[in-house]
Amino acid sequence: MRARHLPIIVALTLLLSACAQQPAPPAELPTPIALITGSHETPTEIRPTETPTQAPTFELPAQPENRTIYDLDLNLDYAQHTASVVQKITYFNRTDQPMHELLLLIPPRYFAGVYSQGSLSGNLVMQSRESGIRTMLSLEPALQPGESTTIQVIFTLLLPKRPGVFGWSEMQTNLMDWFPIIPPFDPASGWLVNERVVDASNTIVGEYLSSETADFSLRLRLTGSAQNLIIAASSEGVEKDGNLEYRLPLARSFSLSVSDQFITREADHKGVSIRTYVFPQHHEAGETIIEVAKNALDLYAELFYPYPRKTLSLVSADFLHNMETDGMLLISKGVIDFYRDAPLNNLTILVPHEISHQWFYSLVGNDPAKEPWLDETIATYCESLYFERYHPEHLAWWWSNRVDGFKPEGWVNATIYIPGGYSAYRDAVYLNGAKFMQELRNLTGDDAFFAALQQYTLQNTYKIASESDFFKALRNHSSADLNPLLQKYFENPPAY
Ligand SMILES: [Zn+2]
Repeated sequence: MRARHLPIIVALTLLLSACAQQPAPPAELPTPIALITGSHETPTEIRPTETPTQAPTFELPAQPENRTIYDLDLNLDYAQHTASVVQKITYFNRTDQPMHELLLLIPPRYFAGVYSQGSLSGNLVMQSRESGIRTMLSLEPALQPGESTTIQVIFTLLLPKRPGVFGWSEMQTNLMDWFPIIPPFDPASGWLVNERVVDASNTIVGEYLSSETADFSLRLRLTGSAQNLIIAASSEGVEKDGNLEYRLPLARSFSLSVSDQFITREADHKGVSIRTYVFPQHHEAGETIIEVAKNALDLYAELFYPYPRKTLSLVSADFLHNMETDGMLLISKGVIDFYRDAPLNNLTILVPHEISHQWFYSLVGNDPAKEPWLDETIATYCESLYFERYHPEHLAWWWSNRVDGFKPEGWVNATIYIPGGYSAYRDAVYLNGAKFMQELRNLTGDDAFFAALQQYTLQNTYKIASESDFFKALRNHSSADLNPLLQKYFENPPAY
């Protein structure tokens, strides 16, 4: 009996691993084949970007000017698991000094044999130096303040067969972090760039990519023999000339999940189209997922501000973890497998968690490697707020099942480089983090706590927030002595 139960326990532990992912062992990498030779559409001119159509009723910061524009032409062969891409990046120097270099990060290069670069060019690019996922471009002449330059990268992907957010399975192809990006740059501190962590159990610990608010446009052409493909994406696709065209302004990434198995469902909720994409065995779950999503959007509209995009896609993932991306989230098929009667299940825990990342990751950015608590601690505490609002009789169950049962310890402000790998990271940042948030709320009182949380969210939208931004907002609403609490939960806390 013990042997039979063990896989279930292991699976449940993984399912509660919100926003974790496992890299494929090297044995799963495909054998490299020749480059794709399919023709590329000539990329059209980059068009002016749009702003979200749903105007917020409160004051957000001004939309950042001179945002980076990512313009992608993607030919995807689902059956062959290959992609050919023509990408243009238009980058503005938003500093007050000339820039002599530009850094490209190429996340697919973490997967051996996957990314093949056909060409990299730009009118200012003199030479490039490659190191791992980093390609440093030397600019000549330098990019002057306020000026822009366009980099073109032509590349192919031989997608890895792996259960994860980048790769394919028999059920699904996922494209997250699939193209080169330019990371945030600060003249004082340089490029904001971190390396990925894979722990001893081959689990990727947290997330490492920090991204600025940018504008995305994508033209997708499906090639090859696969039929009846259904595409979930970060925004709504519009068919045009045999392509699907996508736009997504004011976001940090653009992701796709494609399957010939998806069963879809859609509901309009206060101007947001909530879409579910589940596998056939879960066709009944879509309705429940939509109901949880509606509740979560209502709660976060009240606590933070209304979700500002037109679509939110909730996608069943053919692997045992969950992940957020702009306008879309991936929920493990295992979470849906174990779904029984609401609300005492992981679906009711993790859908609100992942939706909260639309604010704490996408709208309010942070450094997810060095300060992951700013998205994961808050997202985990949002689960509790969801239960408190919609299932108050089960809030104690949430605390015992999600947090206290693990007897969590560790500094809430730990980084993804924490000794002990994923479980130490989760215990410290997610679980002990939730305890910290509750004690902070108890200390300041509800009015100050929620006013501060909303102010932090509003003021840091489109930005990359830091710990001091969080406590600055808190200080505006509470004069409570935070130091004993910070010393209990934070390593080397500054005095606020
Ligand atoms: Zn998360």
